[in-house]
Amino acid sequence: MAIEYGPPEKEKAILVGLVTASRRKREELESLEELNLLATTAGANVVARRVQVRPSPDPAYYIGRGLVDELKDQLAELEANCVIFDDQLYPVQQRNLEEAFEAKVIDRPVLILDIFAAGARTSAARLQVELAQLEYTLPRLTGAWVHFSRQYGGIGSKGPGETQLEIDRRQVRMRIAHLKKQLQKLGVQRQTQRKARSNFFKIVLVGYTNAGKSTLFNVLTRAEIETADKLFTTLDPTTRIMSSGYPCRVVFSDTVGFIRKLPHQLVESFKSTLEEVVEADLLLHVADCSDPKVQEHVEQTRQVLAEIGAEQVPYLMIYNKLDANPGFLPPSADGTRGFAISALEKSGLAALRAEIIARSERRRAV
Ligand code: GDP
Ligand code: MG
Repeated sequence: MAIEYGPPEKEKAILVGLVTASRRKREELESLEELNLLATTAGANVVARRVQVRPSPDPAYYIGRGLVDELKDQLAELEANCVIFDDQLYPVQQRNLEEAFEAKVIDRPVLILDIFAAGARTSAARLQVELAQLEYTLPRLTGAWVHFSRQYGGIGSKGPGETQLEIDRRQVRMRIAHLKKQLQKLGVQRQTQRKARSNFFKIVLVGYTNAGKSTLFNVLTRAEIETADKLFTTLDPTTRIMSSGYPCRVVFSDTVGFIRKLPHQLVESFKSTLEEVVEADLLLHVADCSDPKVQEHVEQTRQVLAEIGAEQVPYLMIYNKLDANPGFLPPSADGTRGFAISALEKSGLAALRAEIIARSERRRAV
């Protein structure tokens, strides 16, 4: 089988979502909005969106045959080369669709895994992403020998084990076992680190993607972490210890944004982040007040926090990007008024710092 090399061309993609008996229209439209952001983050150029209403997904093509034909025409018309589905596809559906479209077919989990692969910068994160990619791919391997990156086929083809082009199932299983062992070792290390910090006042930044968490983290700790107008520039909980300016030793941790329908393979990767959130003394919930959907995003994040058992952790609401929406009045939450700040212009930070110091003093007094 031929191996195609060279830099991936920018994908021109059509997004496809399904409204079914179990999935309402509004829900799907919001989900497509997020898929759009994910696709853009992964480097695709989204040229169209299609939504179909069906009682349930088609077993062979996920969508109806009529739409398959329409999409074929639309791909040609828009010179698009990729269709991204807002759901997980069965291997057979993916194969059928690829044959029908003669174009790349990507589903939501692969898109998310792609973004994580691009964003993983520590060895632990890279191991976690590779593990997730392999676990996703294993049941999709058909022949004894397969062209791996083709089987995987995400945007930019950041497939697992990029150096290894041909691989069989047995090798995949061995690699999975190896990765798990490595991760276990790292987990023990991390636990030891966390224990050593158990007396510190632990502050964790949470919030929807792109709210400005990493920017605020940088401003508060003067660390340089990559910020980008994209999702998931970091997968790792990034941590800084501050000893000056605070009444006790304070640990700040930055986290990845929360996202809907996270592939379950990735939930495992998120565990370390989630544990830090649950064990925090104070959460800084960062929201983008220049986004018209800010309240929805805040609620979604609170919902995820509840799901992981962190709803009791004290938190401050921080409405960031005030510079982009100067009239914004922050609502109160849990009896504490929200802070309106601009991490970019470093404004509104004095009150926030004062509150963080007050909280850490209160904790020290206990
Ligand atoms: P995260 O995903 O929550 O970590 O968000 P980032 O810190 O990576 O920021 C996402 C984008 O928002 C970047 O382009 C930042 O430059 C931008 N950003 C962050 N804070 C502000 C702010 O206060 N005002 C404006 N206008 N943009 C900001
Ligand atoms: Mg970030």
